[in-house]
Amino acid sequence: MDIAHNLQAIHASIPPHVKLLCVSKFHPAEAILEAYNAGERCFGESRPQELQQKAPQLPADIEWHFIGNLQTNKVKTVVQHASLIHSVANIRLFDQIEKDAAKIDKIQDVLIELHVADEETKQGFTPQEATSLLTPDFVATHPHIRLRGVMGMASLTDNEAQIHSEFETIRECFNTLKNTVFADKAEFDQISIGMSGDYPIALEHGATIVRIGSAIFGNRNY
Ligand SMILES: *Cc1c(COP(=O)(O)O)cnc(C)c1O
Repeated sequence: MDIAHNLQAIHASIPPHVKLLCVSKFHPAEAILEAYNAGERCFGESRPQELQQKAPQLPADIEWHFIGNLQTNKVKTVVQHASLIHSVANIRLFDQIEKDAAKIDKIQDVLIELHVADEETKQGFTPQEATSLLTPDFVATHPHIRLRGVMGMASLTDNEAQIHSEFETIRECFNTLKNTVFADKAEFDQISIGMSGDYPIALEHGATIVRIGSAIFGNRNY
């Protein structure tokens, strides 16, 4: 795998204002360093323990994002390392992040994860659940959480029309929130959509962060 070469090709295909999150889960620290030396500073991990092991061995100016399934008892570990948690997928997680961030005096940036795919295995809030959960009162009672936007995944399918429609549903939910409860919050500005297989489509639907793993680092063995 020529990581630097892959990165060059990806940067050529995304506009400069879109952030590339290099998804390094299941890849060793050496692979991350290779991408770091090619200029990348933003890496995504999906398991708290893996994040906890890798972060201390790698340069301190790396911005770690957490993108995986999260259990409440692992929130503390993730809050210690992550500058952005993409995968806040249930109310218990909001409450636990509030508690653990307060303990270390941190304001934790998060995205609310939306479920729009037709797969039961994916987690997250439906757009309706998200818009009814995120009231001004809810935001005010979680002062150590800063909502930065939304995250979601499209179905694993060859049906491009379906992928377009799912990403558009995510953008519409973002717009609804942005125009109501977050109308005076400039920091609510992120749409995290698009992976190796579907990021060109996500770019058409307002992606501000694309999360790309295998197109950079190759296939994962797990
Ligand atoms: C693994 C993962 C990615 C990256 O997937 P690739 O297909 O390897 O680009 C993106 N987002 C989430 C939530 C993931 O778990």
